[in-house]
Amino acid sequence: MNTPFLSIEGLAKRFPSPDGPEPLTVFENVNFGIERGEFVCIIGHSGCGKSTIMNVLAGLDEATDGVVIMNQREVKGPSLDRGVVFQNYSLLPWLSALKNVTFAVAARHKDWSKEQVRAHSYKYLEMVGLADGAEHRKPSQLSGGMRQRVSIARAFAIQPELLLLDEPFGALDALTRGTIQDELLKIWRGTEQTVFMITHDVDEAIYLADRILLMTNGPYARVAESVEVGIPRPRARDEIVEHPHYYKVRNHLVHFLARRSKEMAGREHATASGRPETVRFDEPDDERPAAPTLYAVNE
Ligand code: ADP
Ligand code: MG
Repeated sequence: MNTPFLSIEGLAKRFPSPDGPEPLTVFENVNFGIERGEFVCIIGHSGCGKSTIMNVLAGLDEATDGVVIMNQREVKGPSLDRGVVFQNYSLLPWLSALKNVTFAVAARHKDWSKEQVRAHSYKYLEMVGLADGAEHRKPSQLSGGMRQRVSIARAFAIQPELLLLDEPFGALDALTRGTIQDELLKIWRGTEQTVFMITHDVDEAIYLADRILLMTNGPYARVAESVEVGIPRPRARDEIVEHPHYYKVRNHLVHFLARRSKEMAGREHATASGRPETVRFDEPDDERPAAPTLYAVNE
């Protein structure tokens, strides 16, 4: 059997319940794989456990059950092979923006000279528009959006095999978000990197991802579906909406979030295998033979 680059098997997270013997099961029986080089987004309502899954993938949190295997090895503890942009963009508060990046780059490339580390870090700070003097400020002297950009620069700069992004563009204005999304695609295309990204923005997911995982509401949340976007790359932001799959995928996601994430919630709806169902839109309707039209003639 060929195992994917990243394999999530039987993952569950439970917390002791404050008011009874039954633990709170945030999610259980979460199973999915990600191939090397794939760009996968995950969407689900707030509280279903997306950040928890990502923290387990990062090796920063432990699941109650199940394992994560990357490159045939079980993930245990953090590693520079996995770069993370957290939802709350945690930077080291006592270091400048620049030092937050150089610190990580130097840890990743122990053989690099100070100058190499600095030049490499600057490249990524420039990419996020922060090499204009702002790089010398400490996190407390930066806006939320700027802190988020430092965190993005830091994660990208260490060029991890697996990039884990938790709503990374949430605090950015639309224009900056577009620029950084395009930079992310450029970096991803130019490398063998694998991306796992949480977002609540369905259009962002369709623009960026190969595949979108849909999570039902908790408790007992699970990954119910894996939707293949099926829109060829490179994708142009202003033309993508014209692709015949675009609105099919979009409607499917919106409908899932609005209705099915609740309807499919709860333990009793889980499939035995726990594998998400694959959803594909590979037949454009207009290529199918049109059904004959029936006319009823009432005389
Ligand atoms: P998401 O990122 O999808 O919004 P999270 O992974 O942040 O969700 O949280 C998943 C769930 O875990 C939430 O419903 C939250 O209330 C619960 N949770 C997180 N930490 C604890 C804890 N220490 N004790 C009990 N419940 C927790
Ligand atoms: Mg979250």
